[in-house]
Amino acid sequence: MDTKNKMINIQNCMHEAGFKLTPQRHAIVKVLLDHHQEHLSAEEIYVELLRVSAAFGLATVYRTLDILTSLNLLTRVSFEDGVARYDLRTEDPAHFHHHLVCTQCGKTVEIHEDLLGDVEKVVLRQYHFQVSDHRLTFLGLCQDCQNSNLLESG
Ligand SMILES: [Zn+2]
Ligand SMILES: [Zn+2]
Ligand SMILES: [Zn+2]
Repeated sequence: MDTKNKMINIQNCMHEAGFKLTPQRHAIVKVLLDHHQEHLSAEEIYVELLRVSAAFGLATVYRTLDILTSLNLLTRVSFEDGVARYDLRTEDPAHFHHHLVCTQCGKTVEIHEDLLGDVEKVVLRQYHFQVSDHRLTFLGLCQDCQNSNLLESG
């Protein structure tokens, strides 16, 4: 799905729930779409918005992020630094993608492979817990950091 269709999709979801995609909200969603691999915090989204328009405040950003989160279009994530970050879920609303987080440089990569269906079945069978979704973050070293570590030690 391209950015334009994702925007239309988000607009439709908001309309169904009785929310308008106002110009401010549109600008916020645009930042989220343009930077979706970066897992921006509310403050970072606000800084991006200031580049295009200074016409609204941080409270509007928080309010919009809350609406999108309540509609399950956005998920709050936090990695090693503990900062609340925002992650659009435009691919599959029923499954949140997984993350690889490098503990050396902090880079975050999204992965969409999923082998956890079997684990979810075990959870249901053994714990009688009905799983609706899961979060998975792998901590480790990215390829770049592995290479630079090799260079340093060699
Ligand atoms: Zn993500
Ligand atoms: Zn790294
Ligand atoms: Zn998964």
